[in-house]
Amino acid sequence: MLHSFIDLIFPRICAGCQAPLERSEEQICTHCRFELPVTNSHIQTDIQLVNKFAGRVNLKHTLSFLKFVKGGKVQKMMHELKYKGNQEIGELLGRLYGAELRDNGFKHEFDLILPVPIHKKRLIIRGYNQSDSLAKGLAESLGIEWKSDILKRGTETESQIKKSRLERYKNMEDVFYAENYEEILHRKIVIVDDTLTTGATLESCVIALNDVGIKDVSIIAMATAL
Ligand SMILES: [Zn+2]
Repeated sequence: MLHSFIDLIFPRICAGCQAPLERSEEQICTHCRFELPVTNSHIQTDIQLVNKFAGRVNLKHTLSFLKFVKGGKVQKMMHELKYKGNQEIGELLGRLYGAELRDNGFKHEFDLILPVPIHKKRLIIRGYNQSDSLAKGLAESLGIEWKSDILKRGTETESQIKKSRLERYKNMEDVFYAENYEEILHRKIVIVDDTLTTGATLESCVIALNDVGIKDVSIIAMATAL
């Protein structure tokens, strides 16, 4: 009774298609859930995705859950996650993909999830890192740990003097480094990001781990716009 009353005043809507949700539905409606544009890269290697990193960094698994199409449902869900404060949609997508991976023999392929960090300034404005939500959901389904205090972002390390203002800005945004890594040197790491376009962010994160001696690295992009 109370639930129906609350639903009437604050209707819960699907993050994919904006249709009102049934009581039993969480974040996305049953239709959207079954129509998710999955890549199935965990079943059949996605060559286009793998080629983004080929010859640049060594990855054990290169995985992506969903296909990002401009104006599509995945874009709407990612928008909810990044700009509307809806961390639950991130956790849900993480749990769904984690279950898919678990059921397809990936449970022992990783033992630690590291979310791609966002810049400190952005973290203050947004209040949360969207990749943390994804990591949390994945960790729950896979029954493994996730940590946000290893990969860090945004300290300039190289000389900025000769760079243009834009380059300087970009350079500062994209510096990744590892902290507190001594205890995870021999872990099987998987880095998770929300949307992959060029692959540059994930590549920089892999390099940051490789630089401190961590070699067993995989990546998961929840969505890819290839
Ligand atoms: Zn829907």
